[in-house]
Amino acid sequence: MGKKVAVLTSGGDAPGMNPCIRACVRFGLYKGLEMYGVRRGYQGLIDDDIFLMNSRSVSDIVQRGGTFLKTARCEDFKTVEGINKAVANLKKYGITDVIAIGGDGTFRGGKAMADNSDISVIGIPGTIDNDLAYTDFTLGFDTSVNTVLWAINSLRDTMGSHDRCSLLEVMGRRCGDIALYAGICGGAEYILVPEVPYDLDAIADSLKKAHERGKTSNMIIFAEGAGNKDEICAYLKEKTGVKITTTTLGHIQRGGSPTMQDRILANKFAERAIELIMLGATNRVIGTRDNRIIDENISEALEMSGKFDKKLYKLAEIMSL
Ligand code: ADP
Repeated sequence: MGKKVAVLTSGGDAPGMNPCIRACVRFGLYKGLEMYGVRRGYQGLIDDDIFLMNSRSVSDIVQRGGTFLKTARCEDFKTVEGINKAVANLKKYGITDVIAIGGDGTFRGGKAMADNSDISVIGIPGTIDNDLAYTDFTLGFDTSVNTVLWAINSLRDTMGSHDRCSLLEVMGRRCGDIALYAGICGGAEYILVPEVPYDLDAIADSLKKAHERGKTSNMIIFAEGAGNKDEICAYLKEKTGVKITTTTLGHIQRGGSPTMQDRILANKFAERAIELIMLGATNRVIGTRDNRIIDENISEALEMSGKFDKKLYKLAEIMSL
């Protein structure tokens, strides 16, 4: 009997989820699998919001951000009763495998279900923060960084006209990758991230000197996990006398049409996920390392840390001198 596979998106949404759902469904059908969609992640498993999909079910979504399956956070899934209910619903359809697209929470949920049932789970990383150490990139990160770059370009126009310093807050509570990549590509003078300690007095000093040299517009990119931006801004203003305006990009970073990079990853991640299902694998997550698609045990992947690219950070510093 052919396998029956359910696809869901869970946790924070990310551009690239839609092309990935599409690729899972179409590659799965091509391999002779029966493909199902689940609305609102693990909540949909518990609520039995599960439906059969065909190739047309995923038409006209390749270019859209977000996830047409919708996503949710579901506390009930953290309980044994919740997982049992989800598994019972999957069994009604004869579903054997679940592809869960999301972040580390989604992977923990998937592992909990795989460990407590005979449902096999494969995780695909979809999160704009790029905060999963086992993979170089996650779905949504590239699109998000490009959105930040668009914002930097706009800010630069007005900063230049008014001789201002701009402090731009971007997403990244635990992981400063959005700030780092947008910072180096956008030519930011300072990049503040949770992974690297910074010296505000040194920044103030350099800002002041830059102003005295006639460099009157500067850009500070600030990852939200790097401290309190209002306090930092107030401190720098007081120390330097430089005009600093703050901008918080917020949820704009989560949307937008997925970039080429995110769509390519979406297709390749989906292809590997289906291949693993054909091989009978479970508790694995897909990723990319050194431009190759990889897969890893969920627990081992979640235990990894220390991905932050210090070399790139140093390069960004040199470029801003
Ligand atoms: P993300 O996947 O973006 O990190 P969350 O951390 O909110 O998002 O996790 C998404 C969902 O995964 C949670 O709402 C919950 O349903 C499920 N989940 C997270 N951790 C666990 C866990 N330890 N056991 C079971 N389910 C979990």
